[in-house]
Amino acid sequence: MSSAPRIAVGGILHESNTFCPRLTGLDAFNGRATCRGDEVEAEFGDAAHEVGGFLAGAREHGLELVPTLVANATPSGTVADEAFEALTGELIERVQGAGRIDGLLLALHGAMVAQSHPDADAEILRRLRRELGADLPIVVTHDAHANVAVEEVELCSALVIYKEVPHVDQRERGRQAARIMGRIVRDGLRPAQAIEKPPMLYNILFHDTNKPPMLPLVAELKRLEREDSRILAASAAVGYQYADVPQMGPSIVVVTDGDRGLARQEARRLADLMWDHRQQMSIELPEAAEAVQRARRADRLPAVLVDLGDNIGGGSAGDGTVLLAELVKQGASAFAAAIYDPEAVSEAFRTGVGGRFDAEIGGKSDSLHGDPVRIRGRVKLLYDGKYIETAARHGGMRYLDQGATAVLQIGNSNEPDASFVLLNSKRHPPFSLGQLTSAGIQPQQLRVIVVKAAVAFRAAYEPVAGTIIPVDTSGLTAVNPRRFTYARARRDLFVTGLARAR
Ligand SMILES: [Zn+2]
Repeated sequence: MSSAPRIAVGGILHESNTFCPRLTGLDAFNGRATCRGDEVEAEFGDAAHEVGGFLAGAREHGLELVPTLVANATPSGTVADEAFEALTGELIERVQGAGRIDGLLLALHGAMVAQSHPDADAEILRRLRRELGADLPIVVTHDAHANVAVEEVELCSALVIYKEVPHVDQRERGRQAARIMGRIVRDGLRPAQAIEKPPMLYNILFHDTNKPPMLPLVAELKRLEREDSRILAASAAVGYQYADVPQMGPSIVVVTDGDRGLARQEARRLADLMWDHRQQMSIELPEAAEAVQRARRADRLPAVLVDLGDNIGGGSAGDGTVLLAELVKQGASAFAAAIYDPEAVSEAFRTGVGGRFDAEIGGKSDSLHGDPVRIRGRVKLLYDGKYIETAARHGGMRYLDQGATAVLQIGNSNEPDASFVLLNSKRHPPFSLGQLTSAGIQPQQLRVIVVKAAVAFRAAYEPVAGTIIPVDTSGLTAVNPRRFTYARARRDLFVTGLARAR
């Protein structure tokens, strides 16, 4: 028996909002989810992340893994060239330094944009091919929000994309990629793949794969993989509308055991199914004032107000105040809202627990997400903002960190009616209830909770939410595409979204 095939493992994951006026530098990639060598197993071994799936799948299929670099950052603006060059350079160097390898398992988001490379993920693959040659098996995973460039299916051996939004299947997709790699390096399998891009902007409002129109399409992808042994992976990426790049939009990718005709035929059929969704993709949403009224009248509590324009997981600032200001204005009680504001956190730490807080918070990153709001209250809790999520949640992270955090209790109301503002010092998307519970806030005791998200929060919040109210707020992640000016995206995309374009 020959020795186990050696497979390098790496990843660079970033979703880049090109409408954001701020570039993303190397410092955004310096959290603990960016790790190297042996740190990769410690960070991702138990995580519900595709890299954890690579590690588990490699053990199942007798592959020896050589971890290199896995770099992650919270979605934000276009990646600065300097950061892109540093990360890509280090990845390639570490893969080359791994000694003799038989393949590469690579986790890329699929919607990364660098200043000079609108298709940054494809550029990483081009450079890897240049350095490693055309024949090395490279199996890639993508986020379901990938804007896949057509060229990618020529640059990699197989592409596997998350099926679920919220992304609760990341680990499973990593295992699937490792399984395909095992068949390539052990059985000499030569996969064939095809891509189709239905010409539409697939609005984020309709990404939830637990509901139509995506639900039946994802069921069909799973059926194909289950019932047709020639199909190794069938994926439907919904795409990411906040990247103004030529490849923006959804993608169907089908990987077969070598039958290119079958891959093309199934990709076309699935793309037609996705294109037909456009007839169902129109919705009316309330703006802030009406949404807060609805939340306050809701019978089933807590009511969750979804601040779509300040969706942190989509690259927004995280310090938007539109809904907070409206809650204060309407005199709402028993609400909670998290706001990114390192300055206000410092102020709360200076004040100390029990002290009186009186300052303007939020609305400081830019002028797109509302003005700062004056908050008077008491500092209830201060902590380092670190917590652990053990369940499969969107993003697949286990060790989470919202930075130094302060909880303000506002108003003079008695404990049952108290409202809370959680101030954090890292932009932190609401993918886990641990964000609140680790700070002593119990969602079930509240009337209203504001989340800065679109769909991803649902894996954590649906089990406790009585009512969910998506709100058409302004910002870098506003759901109405007509609020943005696209210059590089295809002009002929069928735009889906709000019933009334404002
Ligand atoms: Zn995603």
